[in-house]
Amino acid sequence: MPTDLSPVDDALADALDDERTRQRETLSLVASENYASEAVLAAQGSVLTNKYAEGSPGERYYGGCEHADAVERLAQERARELFGADHANVQPHSGTQANLAAYQALLDSGDTVLSLELRHGGHLSHGQPYTMVDEHFDVVHYGVDPETGRLDYDAVAARATETEPDLIVSGYSAYPRAVDWERMQTIAEDVGAYHVADIAHLTGLVAAGVHPSPVGVADLVTGSTHKTIRAGRGGMILCGEERADAVDTAVMPGCQGGPLMHNVAGKAAGFAEALTPAFDVYARQTVENAAALADRLQTRGFDLVSGGTDVHFALVDLRETHPELTGAAAEAALESVGLVANKQTVPGDHRSATVASGLRIGTPAITTRGFDAAATERLADALVDVLDAPDDEAVRDDARETVAELCRQFPVYDGGAVASA
Ligand SMILES: *Cc1c(COP(=O)(O)O)cnc(C)c1O
Repeated sequence: MPTDLSPVDDALADALDDERTRQRETLSLVASENYASEAVLAAQGSVLTNKYAEGSPGERYYGGCEHADAVERLAQERARELFGADHANVQPHSGTQANLAAYQALLDSGDTVLSLELRHGGHLSHGQPYTMVDEHFDVVHYGVDPETGRLDYDAVAARATETEPDLIVSGYSAYPRAVDWERMQTIAEDVGAYHVADIAHLTGLVAAGVHPSPVGVADLVTGSTHKTIRAGRGGMILCGEERADAVDTAVMPGCQGGPLMHNVAGKAAGFAEALTPAFDVYARQTVENAAALADRLQTRGFDLVSGGTDVHFALVDLRETHPELTGAAAEAALESVGLVANKQTVPGDHRSATVASGLRIGTPAITTRGFDAAATERLADALVDVLDAPDDEAVRDDARETVAELCRQFPVYDGGAVASA
């Protein structure tokens, strides 16, 4: 399906077509990426991009919102059903925007926020330097246990007692283990703090029940909608009825103006897909593939942070086994054979985030393409071959051939996976 822009704008049409080809002919192992369905793409590319709809369904600041209302109600209802939440705000433009609104709903300027360190797998929007969160709040951090790579909940509790936060943030970007939401909630309650659980990465796994849900446990649950849930780029906030007004006001006018109604439509489409039994199978397979990948990497001599995974990615620590290979060099070597992953700092990393000593390797996108455990192991072998000999052209050629075969065997778009029926 060529992009329908030429002859109006050849340069732009070419770039978009090239990107579509890149997505079809390489394999994304970026743990936060996925392939949205043709239905989600159609919704996001719809005339709703034209419509102003500030406010909530039935209570808008603009006329002509009846169809926007219908779309947003569908997205809200489906989100509530998927996650078992009383209230869903589907307007945040992204996961970061959802977090800003969550802080706005719960905190006053100058309050203390306790969150995981970025280098241990936290997220920028949890208050790292150079963010507005860091400017407006007093941000302090907890870490993972450097030996086990896991959260030590007693240590988090001790840190909470020591720092007396107003808010504790859980939910992470690069933590390969299941999170104990109840334990985090108890820690927060014990120091009189709110608890925001950020499931940006875990949305699909939580919706399908393959990771425990923080809904009904944490005060607010935030997330992105384009990662494991495949509902197109955006964000959302889930909460109980008692915080619904505070959350809605914090999103608009607190942090945003008009919602991106075309993206709200994408969320409605993606959430409908996530409500089908096929999506549960997908989420389970995503985790099984990550386990298969982790096993294969360990069998072939790699260290993984925490020694494995419970979720949709493995986090490779290159320091002991491949001391000469940085995360950045590993990322570049893999990209040269069509495997797209991202460098990542690991707990205790002495390298900067732009160099890093780790590599995050995720299975959400390849599982959407139809990969099973056997195909994932084949991919893992090609990946390990390249990391073991990043400068060997013959090895790279073989890996390139494997990637091309896997892309042909598991096509995406243009009749492949996620094409409309
Ligand atoms: C990806 C992510 C976000 C939000 O990212 P956006 O790019 O703004 O959607 C928030 N929190 C965590 C933990 C994430 O991994």
